[in-house]
Amino acid sequence: MDAKEMLRIVMLYAEQERNCLRAAVGVAMCTGTKDSLMLRYLSHNGPVGKNKCSGEKGQCGCFHAEIRAVMKVLDGHSQKRLALEDTWVIICNYTPCTTCANFILQYGKFLSAWYYEKEYRNPRGMKILRDAGIICEKIS
Ligand SMILES: [Zn+2]
Ligand SMILES: [Zn+2]
Repeated sequence: MDAKEMLRIVMLYAEQERNCLRAAVGVAMCTGTKDSLMLRYLSHNGPVGKNKCSGEKGQCGCFHAEIRAVMKVLDGHSQKRLALEDTWVIICNYTPCTTCANFILQYGKFLSAWYYEKEYRNPRGMKILRDAGIICEKIS
């Protein structure tokens, strides 16, 4: 499956699972390359447990899809194995916020590329990833 087809799956999933009042963000954690991706984990943004989204702009308190995605990878694999799999790719309908970008650099050192549809309102997150050598490319 290529990045464009994967993005369609991500967007369907994000809309279907939507429980944040502000946005529907989905992430596919894949292995492989842009033209030949294997889906490993899907995640979406939203409240955790019994919490509810407040709908407040920038403050709704929902957990971001990117952090959930990285946690799923870390839960599923030992650090040792991650070091061997160096071609993890994220397909997301947005670029990350600065917190998620920093989180990915801290815990997602296995990530090689980020393919997205839209830019998040603050472009700094993407710059953080690019400065760290992660490919960030818009899917057209
Ligand atoms: Zn929310
Ligand atoms: Zn974020």
